[in-house]
Amino acid sequence: MSYKGIKIAALICVLLPFGGCKAEKTISKQENVVSGTRDVFAMDTYMNMTVYGANAEKALDEAEKRIFKLESELSATSDTSEIWKLDHSDGKAVEMSEDTAELIGEALDMCGKTYGCLDITVYPILKEWGFTTGEYRIPEKAKIDELLSKVGYTNVKKEGKSIKLPEDVQIDLGAVAKGYTSDEILDIMRSYDVRSAIINLGGNVQTLGKKPDGSDWKIAVRDPFQPETDMCVVETSDRSVITSGNYERFFIGDDGKRYCHIIDPVDGYPADNGYVSVTVIGSSGIVCDALSTAVFVAGTEKAPEIMRDFADYEFIVVTDDEKIHFTQGISEHFKNISSMPAEVIAFD
Ligand code: ADP
Ligand code: MG
Repeated sequence: MSYKGIKIAALICVLLPFGGCKAEKTISKQENVVSGTRDVFAMDTYMNMTVYGANAEKALDEAEKRIFKLESELSATSDTSEIWKLDHSDGKAVEMSEDTAELIGEALDMCGKTYGCLDITVYPILKEWGFTTGEYRIPEKAKIDELLSKVGYTNVKKEGKSIKLPEDVQIDLGAVAKGYTSDEILDIMRSYDVRSAIINLGGNVQTLGKKPDGSDWKIAVRDPFQPETDMCVVETSDRSVITSGNYERFFIGDDGKRYCHIIDPVDGYPADNGYVSVTVIGSSGIVCDALSTAVFVAGTEKAPEIMRDFADYEFIVVTDDEKIHFTQGISEHFKNISSMPAEVIAFD
């Protein structure tokens, strides 16, 4: 998420007369259901919302406003955001808005529930690797170790809307912001009596109800080894389908290795623990988003423990030896269209 995103969004609106930020109102022939669709560029990503219902346009207007409000509050790189204020508070408590405080609380809860694999205080390390600017570099190990000594989500003190970070501790909510945003959008949709909608926030998909024809939504998940190709299709309704992968934002170092934007809080290096992609399917967008990042970090050894704890959530993971593994509950609802073998995860 960045301020740059807003500028690019404005540009896209100009460049795309039939898409961009313009609303399109169409009548679906199939069921004479009023539908609306909207493209937005925010949080550094392309977003699309398609909703069905008499109030589709009003719901989309409010959802769009909400997206930009959340972006302005949550961006760690924009010097007008609340997170920026918190990250530059020199150890003093800062009063947050209701939204931001709630999201920080939920994120901290997920940091604990994922045994610290999710850790919103890795931000200074993320910056050191250049992931916030695109000026990528492999930092000196001593520098990583120095920064690592300040990492730890338990350092974040929250009392209601007041948040306090020790000096040199900074947070970013990039791992959960889109999931939270899609939950908020669905609340808006429901308040406008929308019963059917699909929200795609840069590949993080959230569905409300079923398709207007009563069938499940079909969500394609990318092949991490060939990101322009689909790996599988998930059939679902009233669920989020959220993926974290090593192909989304990465650079190849001088040593020829791939370094991705998800940091392992154990050693301060980009996570490389056996997974190249993790998809989570479940009812809460923020939980799916938190879990996709955390399970990616946890990797083949530690992830089963987290998956077991979140038994209401389904997982489709791809290992670096080109195999798909999935939890039993999703087996009837996804179709592997890749050439990789897929097998169910057996918990012992
Ligand atoms: P994306 O936002 O690309 O869909 P993720 O949901 O996995 O992917 O979030 C990755 C983002 O989360 C990073 O860009 C960074 O802002 C943040 N991040 C990276 N590593 C961690 C971590 N271990 N814990 C919490 N946040 C992280
Ligand atoms: Mg995530």
